[in-house]
Amino acid sequence: MRHFLDHAATSPMRQVAVDAWVEHSGLLNPGGQYTSGRAARRVLDDARELIAALLDADPVEVIFTASGTEANNLAVSGFAGGRVVASPLEHPSVLEPVKASGAVEWLPVAGARVGDLSALDQPASLATCMWANNETGALQPVDEVVARAQAVGTPVHIDAVQVVGHLPVSFRSSGATTLAASAHKFGGPRSGGLLLARRSPAPAPVLHGGGQERGIRPGTIDVATAAATAAALEEAVGEMDAEATRLAGLRDRLRDGILARVDDVVVHTPPEGVLPGHLHLSFPGAEGDSLIMLLDAAGIDASTGSACASGVNRASHVLLAMGVEEQVVRGAVRFTLGRTSTDADVDAVLAVIGDVVARARLAGMAG
Ligand code: PLP
Repeated sequence: MRHFLDHAATSPMRQVAVDAWVEHSGLLNPGGQYTSGRAARRVLDDARELIAALLDADPVEVIFTASGTEANNLAVSGFAGGRVVASPLEHPSVLEPVKASGAVEWLPVAGARVGDLSALDQPASLATCMWANNETGALQPVDEVVARAQAVGTPVHIDAVQVVGHLPVSFRSSGATTLAASAHKFGGPRSGGLLLARRSPAPAPVLHGGGQERGIRPGTIDVATAAATAAALEEAVGEMDAEATRLAGLRDRLRDGILARVDDVVVHTPPEGVLPGHLHLSFPGAEGDSLIMLLDAAGIDASTGSACASGVNRASHVLLAMGVEEQVVRGAVRFTLGRTSTDADVDAVLAVIGDVVARARLAGMAG
């Protein structure tokens, strides 16, 4: 039996999403001005309206994309052009377009969150800050970021990929100009992303084409993915409060159990102001890759939490930006709990973690 503890990377598709996808997979071009086009359009409109209602946005503000990565790129590249103020804790799908834009000013980091926000008091072409960090689960001060940026007329992008479907989100009251989400993080298909974008200011088009999705994301829309995304989000939002309590309980038991069994553990996830299912920690003296391999051999799917290109982990830029020593960063493991997680998953980790860490420490550090 496998124990999947990498829900922040991707979560299994909900049955309601599979059913919606299968039901609508035969639909054709929602832009077609004929009967089959209108049938597809109706399903797309329903999905858009449901998503808008669940995220407290106007239907016209919902832009369907193919991933959270695409939504982040469209927003960042669509606004960048002058000075950009950004959090260094961002996901690579924000960091890379921000770096490519040129004149970046990074917000200082204090602990697991951005700290001094005074760089936002000067106008910029864009300010960007994630709502919750994908490695540590730490919620970021997005309300204050938006308030300060808006006071000087700077558009704000929020990467809410880890938050949508897990904590309440109101696009209207967030004040953000754009907000990104990803369907597969809340049990939707891995082919679906969302960009919420106000009518004005709207990001300039990065892709040029047939004008779909207000010209922000041209291309023929996969209606089945849109319908499955809406169905998954509806179920996720419906069970959000109960799930948050349940997952936080499992997460606390996992953290306390690990601390009771292993010496010299550094916990990166703060005790408060975090997503309910995240636990990011380091076992200094061990390599993250060794820990992941040994956990895998024991039937446990976990990750180091940092961007992983072709299976090779790089030292987490998030932990480095938080000021964590490189030796400690290299021993990081992220456990993320989600809808399918149970006490049995926590028990499975606690049964092996002492031995796994002892063996990884014995193997030592590479290089
Ligand atoms: N932003 C954050 C915070 C994420 O955690 C991820 C995925 O891990 C993304 C963006 C990218 O989302 P997607 O996998 O849908 O491209």
